Amino acid sequence: MNTTPDVKEAAVDFGHIVDSRPLGVLTAPSAAAVQELLCFAAPHGLPVSARGGGQALFGQGQAHGGYVVDMAALNEVRCAPGERTLTAGAGASWHDVVRAALAEGLTPPVLPDHLGSSVGGVLSTGGFGGSSHRHGLVADQVREVEVVTGTGEHLTCSPDRHPDLFRAVLAGLGQCALIVGATLALVPAPTHVRRYRLYHDSPHTYVADQRRLARDDRFSHVTGQARPALGGGWQYMIEAVAPYTDQPCFRQPTADDELLVGDLDHDRDTEEIADLSYAEYLHRLDRDERLLRATGEWHRPHPWLTLLLPEAAVSSFVSALLTEDAQHGLRTCGTVQLRPLTGRNLHAPLLRRPAGELLCLLSLMRTAPPDRPGVVRRLVAANRALYERSRTVGGVLHPVAALPMGPDDWRSHFGPDWPELVRAKDRYDPHHILTRGYGLWA
Ligand SMILES: Cc1cc2nc3c(=O)[nH]c(=O)nc-3n(C[C@H](O)[C@H](O)[C@H](O)COP(=O)(O)OP(=O)(O)OC[C@H]3O[C@@H](n4cnc5c(N)ncnc54)[C@H](O)[C@@H]3O)c2cc1C
Repeated sequence: MNTTPDVKEAAVDFGHIVDSRPLGVLTAPSAAAVQELLCFAAPHGLPVSARGGGQALFGQGQAHGGYVVDMAALNEVRCAPGERTLTAGAGASWHDVVRAALAEGLTPPVLPDHLGSSVGGVLSTGGFGGSSHRHGLVADQVREVEVVTGTGEHLTCSPDRHPDLFRAVLAGLGQCALIVGATLALVPAPTHVRRYRLYHDSPHTYVADQRRLARDDRFSHVTGQARPALGGGWQYMIEAVAPYTDQPCFRQPTADDELLVGDLDHDRDTEEIADLSYAEYLHRLDRDERLLRATGEWHRPHPWLTLLLPEAAVSSFVSALLTEDAQHGLRTCGTVQLRPLTGRNLHAPLLRRPAGELLCLLSLMRTAPPDRPGVVRRLVAANRALYERSRTVGGVLHPVAALPMGPDDWRSHFGPDWPELVRAKDRYDPHHILTRGYGLWA
């Protein structure tokens, strides 16, 4: 068992808000090592959490008074092109997954925007990407998962094998088992994409266009942002992507810009159109990450909040929050992401979502100044206020957030699915040792 410097590293995460040292860190070279630790920890009631890419925001992967399992060594990726599947260790990053899949001309149908997170970490929260309006969650593409439960059972689960555990693991916040590997479905990858950036002055026209794009499948990827406008106020940008394959014998007609965006309500004078290789598109955030690391922003506190809103509430909810004093810092140190989603394509049962056909994922991705704990406290309190307000319009939390939550909050979050989660917890982690950083249990 390692103690330093891994223990110091395991005490922090991307959020840089909660800081709790575990007793030790296990660098897991195999599922058997994870099993051994859990068999030891369970009867002693010692907390255990997995750590993948360390991108948690509020200590959700920390293990106060217990052990963190560093999954980094479980990073093998094997592609089975004939079966159109890929099997990845939980500690593999999405960079590793993309590399192996693209080498065979294949791709997962949904990928998180940022490829630095781990397979296990993203599957445990669900995982949204640019194509989620068509294909749902990253977790919805999983064929089977290899796990070690809180009692140390090493099991493979799928819709047919241990289906209750399969349902409890995907988007299950690490509550019933630690994921050690997963088999994902793949589809043929395009070689290129045409990317459109379409700017709107009004949230109403933006939402109306997003609604149209979420419904009609003309683009493979659709996402968007609210951005500070020159001279004050905000503008709204849709980023939409149409794939094509650039091989002489398969060449598809060049995307017809007029057909794709001619009926939308954006400002035609400012639209930006670019052709990129598909690989360039998938790695689009790498440059931003390098920049944020170089400026130090990457290592500052990140009091982020992620909410799922019913589409009908988006325009007024977002307009109101952008003018609030509490959200002032978003203009200079934040990104406001607005991702359109279709409810019928989201399948993982533990992913809570608002009722209705069309939804929007709202992510407030902001950075707070270092050494200003008062500012961070204020922003975490503002997250709570926004979360409460979102609930009054039918919104729900997406648990990638800097937001303290207690057992009562979670019971109401999971609503009708709470009893099934409790049953799975009693069966697979009766000592309540797994992933306690979310605060689900007293
Ligand atoms: C810059 C950035 C961009 C992001 N972009 C997206 C995006 O586009 N789409 C999206 O959906 N999310 C996105 N996220 C959120 C991120 O994917 C989730 O927070 C994810 O859980 C991080 O996984 P990790 O392994 O990197 O983090 P970790 O901090 O290591 O883990 C996060 C949580 O998952 C648990 N966990 C980790 N590994 C396992 C495992 N093997 N088994 C069970 N539980 C495990 C941890 O205990 C912890 O609770 C982004 C986050 C950041 C910081």
